Amino acid sequence: MRAVPGIGYVQARPPASAGYSGASLTIGYDGMRRARVTLRTTATWIAYPVVLASALLIYAGLLHTGLACGIAGYIAVLIGAVAPIFLLERVLPYRDSWSPTVVEAKTDLTFLAIVNSALPLGLSILTATVALHFSRSWDGYWQHWWPRGLACWQQVAIVLLVADLPRYWLHRVFHERAALWPFHAVHHSVRKLNWLNVGRFHPVDTSLQFMCDSLPFIVLGVPDEVITTYFVLHATKAFLQHSNVDVKLGWLNYIISGPELHRWHHSVVIRESNTNYGNKLSIWDLLFGTFFYPAKSAVVTLGLADQQYPMTFGAQMKVPFAAHTGDLTASD
Ligand SMILES: [Zn+2]
Repeated sequence: MRAVPGIGYVQARPPASAGYSGASLTIGYDGMRRARVTLRTTATWIAYPVVLASALLIYAGLLHTGLACGIAGYIAVLIGAVAPIFLLERVLPYRDSWSPTVVEAKTDLTFLAIVNSALPLGLSILTATVALHFSRSWDGYWQHWWPRGLACWQQVAIVLLVADLPRYWLHRVFHERAALWPFHAVHHSVRKLNWLNVGRFHPVDTSLQFMCDSLPFIVLGVPDEVITTYFVLHATKAFLQHSNVDVKLGWLNYIISGPELHRWHHSVVIRESNTNYGNKLSIWDLLFGTFFYPAKSAVVTLGLADQQYPMTFGAQMKVPFAAHTGDLTASD
C-alpha cells in the first residue's frame, strides 16, 4: 500500500512479475461475464425441451418398473417438471418481482390441491363410472370410434390436436361473454406469473374445461396409457406456460403456446390479454386471428384493472356469484 496525500491509502498495482496485470484481469473478468451470458442464453433456449423431455423420460422409466400409469404420471410431473421448474425459477427467473409471497403461495397451493387436482380427479372417476355403465348397456357403442389400433404416441397426438380446439373456443368465450368472464377473471386476478398460480381457476371454469378436453376421451374409452401420457404433457406444458422462467421458444411460438405468449394473455391491457387463447398449441390463435407475439417487447403489468378484487381462496369462490360493483375486466 502507498499513501496518497489528501486521499489516503490506495491499493498498489502488483508488479508484472507477480504473474498477472491489470489488462489480464480485465480480460479475465470480461471472459467470465461473456461465459455467464452465453450460459444464460443457452439455458433460456434449452430449458423448455429439457423439462418436457425429463418429465416424459421419468414417466417412461416408471412405467418400465411396472408402476400403474396413473401414479407414474403424477410422480413424473412432480419430479420431472415441478422440481426443475422450481429450481429454474430461482436460477433463471424471467422477472425477479414475480416470486410468490408466502400468503400467495398458500392460496395457490389450495387452488392446486382442490380445484386443479381433486376436482378433475373426482370428475374423471364419475365420468369413467357413468361411461362404463353406458358401454355395458350399449355394447360399447361409443368406444368403437376411437382408433385404439394406432401406436400410443399417435393416439396422444390425436388427443392433443382434437382437445385443443374446443379448449381454444371455451377460453375465448370466457373472455368475450360478460356472463362467463367473472368465472375466468379469477384466473386473471394474479399480478405475477409463476408455476404455483397455474391452478388458480374457479371450479365452474375447471369443470367446463374438463368437459372440453377430458370427458369426450373418457367416454370414447381412450386407453389409460394414452390419457396419462397426455396428462404428463398437459401438466408439464401448463407449469412451463405459467412459470417465471426466462424461456425462449423462437419459431416454436408459432406452434406451441408457451410462456412468451401466455404473459401477454395475462396483461392488464385488454387488447393484449384478449389474445393467445391456445392451451397447448398456438395454431388455433394463428388460424382465428388472436395470435399476439411482439417478440421485441415485454408485457408491463399483469392482472385485473380492479385493484379491490378479492385475492383469498374463499372470496374468489364467491365473487363470480356476487354483485361485484368493481371493474372486473382488464383495462384498455
Ligand atoms: Zn384467459
